[in-house]
This record gives sequence, C-alpha cells and structure tokens, in this order.
Amino acid sequence: MSGPHNFNPGPAALPSSALEQAQAELLDFQGTGISILETSHRSPTYERLHNEAIERLRRLLGLDESFTVLFMGGGARAQFALAPMNLLGPDQAAEHIVTGKWSEVALEQAQKVGCAREIWSSTATGHDRVPGPSEIEPSPDAAYVHLTSNNTTSGTRFAEPPAVDGIPLVADMTSDLLTRPLDLDPYGLIYASAQKNAGPAGVTIVVARTSLLDRASTELPDMFSYAAMHQKNSLLNTPPVFAIYLVSLVAAHLEAEGGLVAQEQRNARKAELVYDAIDASNGFYRGHAQPESRSPINVTFRLPTEELESRFVTESAEAGLIGLKGYKTIGGIRASLYNAVSLADVQALVEFMDDFQRRHRAEA
Ligand SMILES: *Cc1c(COP(=O)(O)O)cnc(C)c1O
Repeated sequence: MSGPHNFNPGPAALPSSALEQAQAELLDFQGTGISILETSHRSPTYERLHNEAIERLRRLLGLDESFTVLFMGGGARAQFALAPMNLLGPDQAAEHIVTGKWSEVALEQAQKVGCAREIWSSTATGHDRVPGPSEIEPSPDAAYVHLTSNNTTSGTRFAEPPAVDGIPLVADMTSDLLTRPLDLDPYGLIYASAQKNAGPAGVTIVVARTSLLDRASTELPDMFSYAAMHQKNSLLNTPPVFAIYLVSLVAAHLEAEGGLVAQEQRNARKAELVYDAIDASNGFYRGHAQPESRSPINVTFRLPTEELESRFVTESAEAGLIGLKGYKTIGGIRASLYNAVSLADVQALVEFMDDFQRRHRAEA
C-alpha cells in the first residue's frame, strides 16, 4: 500500500516494517494468546521485551557501562524540569545555549527549578544558526551546559557539540537521537521523546551517565528521580508498555538496516536533495538556516510571498505530500526528513518543488 508522503514534524513517519509487525502480533503477542496491551508489566514476557528494547538502544548508540538507558513519561517537556531537579546543585548554575523554540522553553522551565542562565542565543536573528564549537564559554560554577542538538522548528543543527572544557553536556535530542552515531564523551545526559524518530508518543528515552545520578537530593520524589528510575530499571511504575514495544521494533529495524552510520548516510542524501533544490531555485526558495547550521532532519525554507507559501502547503497536500507547513513563529515550509521518511518520499517532494516553481514563477 502506498500512502501519502509523510513529512509530519511529530508524531511522524514510522518504519512500515515496525507497524506491520505490531499489527500482525496485536491480538496474540508471540504465542501468549493475549495482546501485549493486555499483558502485565511484571510478567516475564514484558520483562524480556523491556530489556530487549534497552539492549537494542544500547547497541545502536554504542553505550558502555558508564551509561544507563531509562524510559520515562511526560515527554521532553518533563525533562526540561527533571534535568535541573536531578543535576543542578544549590550553588551551581545550569548554562543554556538557546537556539530555538524548544531551548527557550527548556531554559524557562529550568529557571523555575534553580539558577539557570542563557550563555548564547540566536533569538536576535530568528534562530538561523547554532554556535560554532569554540563560541561557548561556560562559567566555572556551571553544573552543566544545556543544548538542543537539532532545532525542530527552525531547522538548525549542531554538526559538532560545543567544546565546554569537561563540563557535562545535557542535550535535548528529541528530533535527532538515532539519526546519526554519537561520540558520547562530552555528554552527561541525553533525552528524547520518541515521536520524532524512535517510536510513538508516550515514552521518553533518557541516556544518563550513571556517575552523575547521585548528584540529586534524596528528597526528590522517586518518579522525578533518575537514580530511582535507574535502580528499578524504569519499572518503578507501570511503564508505557506499547510505546516501548514500538521503540524496540524501530530499533530492531535500524539495526537490520545497518545501524546509525548507514542511517546517517541515508539522511544526508535525503537532505542534500532538498537543499540542492533550494540552492538551485534562483532565490525562489530561500533556506531559513545559515548553510553551516543546516539541519538534515528538519529543512525550513521560505517562498517569495506568504500567499505562495500557503498555496504550496495546499497544493502539496493535494499531491499527496503532507505535513509541510512551517512552524508558526518561523513561517514558510518545513520538511521533516526523519529516519522513516524514504528517499522516494524526498524525491517526490523535490519534483513537486520544481514543478511548483515552474507554475508560479511569474507570481514571485
Ligand atoms: C518535539 C520536541 C519537543 C517536545 O516534546 P514533547 O514530547 O511534546 O514534550 C522538545 N524538544 C524538541 C527538540 C522537540 O523536537
């Protein structure tokens, strides 16, 4: 079955092999005679699935024993508060790099918890770039430096994490975890809600350096504590069983397709097609991000007029290309090229862009 080309920003496209497997075993999970939706999270069946999901993520990301993988609720937004609640001491500051809508919210939420300050911002230029590796200078009292690795709404991305002198990085990787291999050395904490590349909404993947977990006060309620979640292997309360099951299927699919090195190459090829179309359009399409900050995951661009932008959204949807409307504060068009968006989807988009330009050039 060939459905529409899905460029939704999130929840977003999932690999059809994962959805088909979930469908095939929905009523009878692996011979148990009942659905995984009806299975106790304390059963050996679920425990096996849960640990397999963690193992698959560990293998994909190349994690060693210094990191733990947690499954948590509340989305990335909960992590905006949980990171400082767990990692920020009373005489320390959380230093935030503000590169988009989500990093603005992350800072605002951290400030409700403790001392959090902005040390770099692209607000003045409409979040059109991220800082270069040597532009960041954290203070000596910084507990960590927070960044958003890929800016989903504005379409910028850190090609390299900033150099911060051994201060741990805390990264919101909601829109690019599992899109490329990572050198984990600089990171203390990584979090990503699943619904961009890793699965459905409902579970957040947290990768934490275990040596940082005892920073948190023991007064912290268990459900908000990384240490307590780690101690219970994320089975402190009833986890989002079905979401974790789908994350596991997506991770298995990625492993079968050659892991994150191969995935990064596929993503780069997809992004190149769209950016080439923008750059070859003689200014009809204008990229929002500065070239060296361009995200291969969310491509943002403008057209000559807002009128043409809304026609682009309408006509593309009629042509079976969905989810292309830009985020409200950025405007224009956003093509989200997450892992499960195929090269064929992107080729269809680029053909549409070319055709749209030919038909509407005179109105520019
Ligand atoms: C989508 C997104 C969020 C919001 O995630 P929720 O799960 O809705 O809290 C946060 N940060 C980034 C980078 C995102 O792309």
